[in-house]
Amino acid sequence: MADPGLTGWTSHGHRIPNVPQTGRPVNVARCGGPGMCNVCSREAAAAPPARNVITDPITALAGPPNLDPLGALHDAVAFSSRDWSNDGRDGAWIYGIVCGWDDETDGPDAGDAMTEVASLYRWDASTIARLRALHAAWKALEASARGETQAPTT
Ligand SMILES: [Zn+2]
Repeated sequence: MADPGLTGWTSHGHRIPNVPQTGRPVNVARCGGPGMCNVCSREAAAAPPARNVITDPITALAGPPNLDPLGALHDAVAFSSRDWSNDGRDGAWIYGIVCGWDDETDGPDAGDAMTEVASLYRWDASTIARLRALHAAWKALEASARGETQAPTT
């Protein structure tokens, strides 16, 4: 499952703390990432330290800011031990924008989480569509904050 074009990510698709990320995993496991998942924790612990990376101060100044509030919020939500689906609709809405309820892998559970959450909070089709659109817009913002060109999403 590991993609050679990706560095700084666990094989489950989670960001390894204190290591620069290259690329973006397509498939992200709902395992909790480093700190919760044994596989992710082991891989994060084995990652080379960030000091091996040489940063050009000119391009660092010209490039995206080192502070990444969108990524920080994404990590805070994705790595939280909170059960975002069952802890109130505001949390479910926030998770839906930042992480998305649709399983972005092609497993047998694809789409099930959105269906369950929408049913729990009585979100109708237009509310679901709005949440999916917000998540797509969020991902575009994250990509643009990292200086990447966003591939068109549906
Ligand atoms: Zn994991």
